Amino acid sequence: MSRHDRRTTLKRRVAAVAEDWLGRALPDAERWTRASLVRCRGPYCLRCGHSSPQRYSVREGCPVCIDRRGVLDGVCRVGRYRGGCAQLVLALKFRRWWELARPLGSRLAWSVRAERGADCLRGAVVVPVPMPLIRRWRRGIDHAALIGREVASAGGAAYYAAMWRSRGAGQAGAARSTRLRASSHGWHLHLKAPSRLRGREVVLVDDVLTTGRTARIASRLLKQAGATSVTLAVVAVTDQSPDIGYKIEG
Ligand SMILES: [Zn+2]
Repeated sequence: MSRHDRRTTLKRRVAAVAEDWLGRALPDAERWTRASLVRCRGPYCLRCGHSSPQRYSVREGCPVCIDRRGVLDGVCRVGRYRGGCAQLVLALKFRRWWELARPLGSRLAWSVRAERGADCLRGAVVVPVPMPLIRRWRRGIDHAALIGREVASAGGAAYYAAMWRSRGAGQAGAARSTRLRASSHGWHLHLKAPSRLRGREVVLVDDVLTTGRTARIASRLLKQAGATSVTLAVVAVTDQSPDIGYKIEG
């Protein structure tokens, strides 16, 4: 073996060891997502996202939401917020493992298409639930926006970060911006360009649905802007809350 061949062989070996080492240090996001979701999927209520008491998904409502009117036109989810599914959300959100957004977003797009129709994302607008700027800066990641982009990309939909969120009184602004602003418990949601949503079907994307308060307010705002329907798409839904997404709306 010539000197050149020995050097090439050595280079290949070093590359293989480095790849192996990096492969262990950075586990594959797709594989980890697949393994983590095994026990977290299951039938659910397509109206409120709560796990279904039946062995199949229910469309007409479950005991949690059957008697309630809501501003959301449906909820799609990947799984319930527990075990591996919760770990995925926490790893994306707090450990900034942004590579998880792609496998989670593609699975969420699959759920939306499975429940709302194969072509439902074409022509729709994907809008992420906004995060306060200060929190975005502290965390260094906007997980809902990342997942939203992947949902839009996987489903052939448009992506538009239509809302922003502020704290405090926020009284500055004209009458029109006041009309297109919704408030709750010291924070406000604002719409950027309502005309881009008029007559469009909107898929509102977030990571976890807990009380559903933010989703309700965002949905009301989007409909004021002219959205024909608002479907909430979330990675996970907690089953503890009895109020998910469907409290009485005026
Ligand atoms: Zn329900």
